[in-house]
Amino acid sequence: MLTREEIVAAFDGDDEDLNVPDLDGIDWEELDYFGWVHPSGHLGFVVLQSPNDGQIRGVRLNRSTRKARKPRMEMCSWCHHVHKTNGTAMFTVSVKGSEGRHTLGNVVCKDLDCSLRVRDKIAPGSYMRESLYRPAKVWRMQQSMHRWLGRANQI
Ligand SMILES: [Zn+2]
Repeated sequence: MLTREEIVAAFDGDDEDLNVPDLDGIDWEELDYFGWVHPSGHLGFVVLQSPNDGQIRGVRLNRSTRKARKPRMEMCSWCHHVHKTNGTAMFTVSVKGSEGRHTLGNVVCKDLDCSLRVRDKIAPGSYMRESLYRPAKVWRMQQSMHRWLGRANQI
């Protein structure tokens, strides 16, 4: 569970473009990370506990959606949910210390709602049936996030 103050603090107190969503009604038990998208659609935010020091970190991501002309399957690289067209977005993170010169991209569920997808809380379900046990899916998702954000020195 996080308060608005804790979320802003995770971004070093810089809340200029955060647009922290309404936190009422959020079931924190079901979230492995807290993610949301700026109303402009061009930014995404992720708040998570660092696997390195246990601190709560906020990461700012650039977000771009790619409109597919033809139907195609897309898989989220974090939760492995398979969407049927336009369910994912390209998120890029800048490598800390590079002053924006180096960025790393990743294709992720466009609303940053992987935790709920892993728990089958959002319809339609994944187009690829997986028999993987839920804790294993959560573990895999966290591994992917940590690897990516770790390479960008963000956690
Ligand atoms: Zn996902």
